[in-house]
Amino acid sequence: PFDVLVVGGGPAGAAAAIYAARKGIRTGVAAERFGGQVLDTMAIENFISVPHTEGPRLAAQLEQHVHDYDVDVMNLQRATALVPADADGLVEVKLENGASLKSKAVVLSTGARWRQMGVPGEDQYRNRGVAYCPHCDGPLFKGKRVAVVGGGNSGVEAAIDLAGIVAHVTLIEFDARLRADEVLQRKLRSLENVRIITSAQTTEVLGDGGKVTGLVYRDRVGGDAHRLALEGVFVQIGLLPNTEWLEGTVALSPRGEIVVDDRGQTSVPGVFAAGDCTTVPYKQIVIAMGEGSKAALAAFDHLIRASAP
Ligand code: FAD
Repeated sequence: PFDVLVVGGGPAGAAAAIYAARKGIRTGVAAERFGGQVLDTMAIENFISVPHTEGPRLAAQLEQHVHDYDVDVMNLQRATALVPADADGLVEVKLENGASLKSKAVVLSTGARWRQMGVPGEDQYRNRGVAYCPHCDGPLFKGKRVAVVGGGNSGVEAAIDLAGIVAHVTLIEFDARLRADEVLQRKLRSLENVRIITSAQTTEVLGDGGKVTGLVYRDRVGGDAHRLALEGVFVQIGLLPNTEWLEGTVALSPRGEIVVDDRGQTSVPGVFAAGDCTTVPYKQIVIAMGEGSKAALAAFDHLIRASAP
């Protein structure tokens, strides 16, 4: 069995694996796609001390750093179930291929995915005007016009944030009213360079073949289609944690995030979690790495205690 088994190979999982391996304990990583969301990212400019890098490059460096240590990396392996430890003190992780792995401690770092609009142009212009993270990509749209799709708390927060950077923000909400907290709505309405459109269904992202040039929405009351000319579309209709496989075993928040304490401990003894799949706020690379490191140290502490005579 492993001492620490990490499930997920994004920034959180890579950090957890390195921190665990540096303790000289038997460490494994099982990941569906090593690199995680970083593989889908282009420019990264907020990875502190690295002014500019690109997703595929950072993903390759994550993998290289992990391989510098004695870590058993099992790529292209999807976990489908977690079985808490019984008398033998070993947690079991079942894989899609039928195999099962056992470990004294487990770090869950399966990340999350942004909910997509599923409209024409969204895929084609991803990273070319279609963005999901205002903290990451907001500055790329300085002085330009953007839309934020989604009027929940994250959409309204994004619109307020972007209004301070870009020339103009159009917030588009499907429902007849915004769903964000009242205090956020008040702040949003006080901004001069923001327009709010409700009862509007985004139906297409427009582009010139290279980058975004606009967006089409359907007025859900009148039924007619409208075009907006703009350079960026921020999609803020939800972040879905990759935790479906843990339902019923590990305590999850109403949004499906793994509930962790300040050491990354979950509701299951010996099982820790880190990164975008957890309740820790602000989903970012540096945060995921810090949390992954912390969860591995907490797992190591757990091992010391569990093996005490
Ligand atoms: P992830 O990166 O999501 O990794 C999850 C890992 O778990 C993957 O290896 C995945 O394959 C694996 N996995 C999932 N389910 C299973 C399973 N059942 N079994 C086994 N493995 C599984 N952040 C920044 O700080 N700066 C940026 O500029 C930035 N830009 C971004 C741009 C885009 C387009 C996107 C999508 C995100 C961006 N982010 C950025 C956010 C950042 O990528 C995430 O916060 C970060 O990758 C989270 O790391 P993580 O390790 O928690 O999860």
